[in-house]
Amino acid sequence: MQQELDSRRLLESRFRYAISHNELVLHYQPQVDLSTGMLVSVEALVRWQSPDYGLLYPDEFISMAEEVGLICEIGQWVMLAACQQILSWQQAGMGWVRVAVNVSPLELGSDAIVDRVADALASYGIPPECLELEITETLSISDPEMALAIINQIKALGVVLAIDDFGVGYSNLGYLKRFPAERLKIDQSFVRGLSHSAHDKAIVATIIQLARSLSMQALAEGVETEQEAKILLELGAHLIQGYWVSRPVSSTDLEVMLRQACVL
Ligand code: C2E
Ligand code: CA
Ligand code: CA
Ligand code: CA
Repeated sequence: MQQELDSRRLLESRFRYAISHNELVLHYQPQVDLSTGMLVSVEALVRWQSPDYGLLYPDEFISMAEEVGLICEIGQWVMLAACQQILSWQQAGMGWVRVAVNVSPLELGSDAIVDRVADALASYGIPPECLELEITETLSISDPEMALAIINQIKALGVVLAIDDFGVGYSNLGYLKRFPAERLKIDQSFVRGLSHSAHDKAIVATIIQLARSLSMQALAEGVETEQEAKILLELGAHLIQGYWVSRPVSSTDLEVMLRQACVL
């Protein structure tokens, strides 16, 4: 137990160092319009390139960061890095690319996030509609009314909002109705069963209808096969994201896809 505690403390202190010493890096995964095959936006996914531990994925450090109170610093780093990347793609002649970043529910516990978003946009002169925030509904939002008020303040800046991991965890329809999101992201656990489970297909069809009736775009995550993409097209999904189109890749690799624009 003591050993576990020690190695955890070490990880934590290494991580504090990592945030301020450029050991974090963003990878990008395309989000594609199913009807046109065009790449319309990308999701930024954080990685930690640690000299001690190697390349670490968010599952290995995000919850630790949430527990030790570092999640807002990561959120800020990610937002600034995403905006910097948007500007540099624009300057390289690829137009304004929309980048979606993940927001931890804990970041919605204080309205400081509103300033962080505004500052990131202003620092790089980014049109607000180029930045999208993916927000997961969870029980860890201790005060949903306050979170909703903060979400509305962020929305007023002109950024795009998406509800992440829809269908798993705490998804309250009353909350959904009041959440000013443009996109609903269907969790990959449902997409996984699309081709063999009538239940999963029915659930996905229902979520797509729900999104449509609330004037939101339905984006299916974790699409790994052509068959899944075909079913999603039949069911009326707007967008897909997943290994079938591309794994998350470095910014230089993504540039190649951006130059193609049409990726399907
Ligand atoms: P998420 O937001 O649901 O992101 C999607 C995850 O699914 C990513 O894992 C992505 O690499 C993976 N994925 C994409 N396509 C496929 C597919 O076709 N098949 C399968 N099996 N997986 C696919 P990743 O990058 O390891 O991220 C895991 C989670 O960590 C994310 O889940 C998100 O909740 C969190 N996360 C990532 N970046 C950030 C960040 O900057 N801030 C915060 N707060 N959380 C982040
Ligand atoms: Ca996400
Ligand atoms: Ca997700
Ligand atoms: Ca997730």
